[in-house]
Amino acid sequence: TDLAPAADVDEALEALRRVWGYDEFRPGQREVVEHLVGGGDALVLMPTGGGKSLCYQVPALVREGTAVVVSPLIALMQDQVDALRTAGVRAGFLNSTLLPHERQEVEDAFVSGDLDLLYLAPEALRGQGAQRLLDRGRVSLFAIDEAHCVAQWGHDFRPDYLALSVLHERWPDVPRIALTATATTQTREEIVRRLDLGSARQFVASFDRPNIRYRVVPKAEPKTQLLELLRTEHPGDAGIVYCLSRASVEKVADQLVAAGITALPYHAGLDASVRLRNQQRFLREEGVVMVATIAFGMGIDKPDVRFVAHLDLPKSVEGYYQETGRAGRDGLPATAWLAYGLNDVVQQRRMIDTSDGDLARRRALGAHLDAMLALCETATCRRVQLLAYFDEESAPCGNCDTCLEPPETWDGTVAAQKLLSTVLRLQRERGQAFGAGQSVDILLGKTTPKVTQQGHDGLSTFGIGTELTDAGWRGVVRQLLAQGLLAVQGEYGVLALTEGSGQVLRGERQVLLRREQPRPASRSRRSAS
Ligand code: ADP
Ligand code: ZN
Repeated sequence: TDLAPAADVDEALEALRRVWGYDEFRPGQREVVEHLVGGGDALVLMPTGGGKSLCYQVPALVREGTAVVVSPLIALMQDQVDALRTAGVRAGFLNSTLLPHERQEVEDAFVSGDLDLLYLAPEALRGQGAQRLLDRGRVSLFAIDEAHCVAQWGHDFRPDYLALSVLHERWPDVPRIALTATATTQTREEIVRRLDLGSARQFVASFDRPNIRYRVVPKAEPKTQLLELLRTEHPGDAGIVYCLSRASVEKVADQLVAAGITALPYHAGLDASVRLRNQQRFLREEGVVMVATIAFGMGIDKPDVRFVAHLDLPKSVEGYYQETGRAGRDGLPATAWLAYGLNDVVQQRRMIDTSDGDLARRRALGAHLDAMLALCETATCRRVQLLAYFDEESAPCGNCDTCLEPPETWDGTVAAQKLLSTVLRLQRERGQAFGAGQSVDILLGKTTPKVTQQGHDGLSTFGIGTELTDAGWRGVVRQLLAQGLLAVQGEYGVLALTEGSGQVLRGERQVLLRREQPRPASRSRRSAS
């Protein structure tokens, strides 16, 4: 077992108090620290702001040698290392921003054992050079931060992360800790597989961020709606406004400035120096609104971000969770606000359908989008849905729009049964699995070539669903996916039954669906509370 000696556990707590000035570990941190100090491998899933850094920084001080931290956040390495040095920790970093003599200094310090922590960009480990360097010093542990970057279909994939499997092959005795705030089962499995962490202990913290109030509004006049949000609920507050394109970032930032709000743009098309300056202002000044693409935010530790607004639909629930998670890290009330319209869906579908990726990848992207849509359209608590996406059960939260203002619903039990039994019949009677389109065509009694060739017009559910339109059925599919009563799986995005499907089919469970109607152009807003 990987039990740490009691003296090391004491030393860890002592380091926490001396270096960071904190009295106690947070729930979750202590177990990880003890496991790592004892030499075990760990996979840590903790929400943004949960306190992941200390999980490897404290062991770095307790274990002999240098902890090597792999992080994609090159722009933040300097800040992270400076902060550690200020606290008296011997830290350094190696990345492409260093001059040759600076690099030499850091390498020398590492080799002579004068570093507690060494931060590395993932691309640095690609070459033999860095690997030989690591052999010349003593590595106490490897920490792989933002480990979800290894997931090829995730929202932050970095090809260089794939090469990190070399760590275990080359230094099998050095304990490894992989950390991420992205926690779908799929991503978790991919991290374990690609980083060879099969025998690592998994530490999964709750992903709930109870102080964030989630709200999704129909997009009518986004600029006006955003301004109203900022003026009535968040005057003078720091926040982030996410847009999909660089052009809309520029436009929205200009509009906010024209309205007298301190707003700055951030996207990958801006000069590195401008990006850095805007980021620093956002971090250091009060009440700055950052208008940004998703290029902004990873690793940003600003506790008092009071709102995150999305003017475009995020591409996945994971992305949405990451982005909204940047609000309210201080635990005080914060708003996650999303304006979404049909155009978003059409646009993103098109982007997916015309993207270069192969069919499997496009299907995966489509499935991500569907889940995001379902979250937007849910009739039940958004937090319950969001956490269910991360396999976490919870009760209605009372702090989201659907809890505060329950939407109109209809009893969709029979519709759900029709759909689910189509999926069931394909599976039981034919040993087949198809995407949503085929089941919908069967329900509608459409004799498409794919239906007739497969003989699906012979299924007993053929043509029994004409009370809904094609779009109506797709809405049912999306909502069932969102409620976990149906699953979409594999590279082909085929429908599959879940445990919950069985309950619906057996009539043990009622299915409430949100009434889908043309969205009103504007709706009277609840007064800010
Ligand atoms: P993450 O990387 O998970 O997003 P951080 O490691 O940046 O989170 O920690 C978030 C904040 O919580 C930081 O300001 C950190 O100093 C603080 N923090 C972490 N652990 C503790 C603790 N045990 N006690 C008090 N504050 C903590
Ligand atoms: Zn709720």
